Amino acid sequence: MANPMADEMRRFKGSDEKNPFEAMSERFDRAARILGLEDDFYKVLRVPSRELKVYIPVKMDSGHLEVFEGYRVQHNFARGPAKGGIRYAPDVTLDEVKALSAWMTWKCAVVNVPFGGAKGGIVCNPIQMSQGELERLTRRYTAELIDFIGPDKDVPAPDMNTNEQTMAWIMDTYSMHARHTVNAVVTGKPVALGGSLGRREATGRGVLFTVNEAIKRFKLTPEKTSVVVQGSGNVGGIGAELMYEKGYKVIAISDIGSGIYNANGLNIPEVLSYLKANKTLEGYAEADHVGNQELLEIECDVLAPCATENQITSENADRIKCKILAEGANGPTTPKADKILHDKGVFVIPDILANAGGVTVSYFEWVQDRMGYFWREDEVNQRLEEKMVASFNELCRFSELHDVDTRTAAYMLAIDRVAYDTRMRGIYA
Ligand code: NAD
Repeated sequence: MANPMADEMRRFKGSDEKNPFEAMSERFDRAARILGLEDDFYKVLRVPSRELKVYIPVKMDSGHLEVFEGYRVQHNFARGPAKGGIRYAPDVTLDEVKALSAWMTWKCAVVNVPFGGAKGGIVCNPIQMSQGELERLTRRYTAELIDFIGPDKDVPAPDMNTNEQTMAWIMDTYSMHARHTVNAVVTGKPVALGGSLGRREATGRGVLFTVNEAIKRFKLTPEKTSVVVQGSGNVGGIGAELMYEKGYKVIAISDIGSGIYNANGLNIPEVLSYLKANKTLEGYAEADHVGNQELLEIECDVLAPCATENQITSENADRIKCKILAEGANGPTTPKADKILHDKGVFVIPDILANAGGVTVSYFEWVQDRMGYFWREDEVNQRLEEKMVASFNELCRFSELHDVDTRTAAYMLAIDRVAYDTRMRGIYA
């Protein structure tokens, strides 16, 4: 039987194309060269500010101790506290976390929120761990990072396999050490503990807002737009549901096991209820079953990879048949694939814009926590829409002005903003 987790664990092996930090650096180099970034700033911005590696002892339910390896990489603080999610997975690597931390710096700059970038990860298999084990793992990881995180230093958030509960444990552990409640230390918390309304849906909603803008360039309306979504978690599942509600024809969706396809459109709320009840899409009646790779090659107007890195590579890019690629996931496309997609005329909404809705509402959550005054959900969504639409249009203008593809434009816009702030502050060297 196929073992998706084992396949996952092999995904970086033997291929430089699939090393996310190299992919990030290659794009950074290209954008910095076109911008004419001065050498001193190039050297500083290309590397993280700080990389932390911690060993986390956890008492397992069986009574024995297990030691897990965890990371927190803080890429840049020029524009404010570092910000970024924490990922639990068996194949997390330091290079992956480094890449994700840099992407957070560029993402925050693209949408112009006053944060730098960070990311965390723990090498573990959360699916095989009990809630008690996950809680102890999270609390001890937080304790190891206690001097390095905080509302003015570094503000974690959820990422793959972490959620509101994980954030509540981090908030509580940090608060116990501080001897008072500090809810602004994390975002993506439960609403009752200082979370923001609309945060859970924010990344998927941000994907929707950027797709709404992109289809106008193709004279499409939602009803006439077919969409394929890879992943059905926080980004893919919610993104697909919001697109369905808006009238888009979502024709395929997947989870880590496999995908389903119906050329006439899927009833996404029904699909997600089925997935919730059965923990798999297999056996869903009103669709054909497709593999994750096959799903990416379905002809459609919008392809939204919302699962993980390295899904579109030099091996399959020439078989991608979408007009618009909306990158809900971080790093789903490799630099080699970028070139192939560009030659095919695919319009790319790059990850550092497409999935920036999450960090934008995280910023709103941090602001609300610090004010102690909370906004209505429609206010949050409206502010998110304003930010995403303005950032999309700014990116397109920048891309046209410099005659570069949208991904390069996104990096250029971000690097330019971070370099400006670094220049104004000066480098304490
Ligand atoms: P999630 O754990 O909620 O969902 C991930 C989904 O992808 C699940 O359906 C899972 O089954 C599927 N999946 C995992 N590995 C896969 C593989 N190899 N092939 C196919 N499907 C696979 O995670 P999420 O929060 O939705 O995050 C998805 C992506 O979006 C990640 O790249 C993450 O870094 C990025 N992202 C998330 C947020 C956020 O707010 N959650 C914000 C910005 C970016």
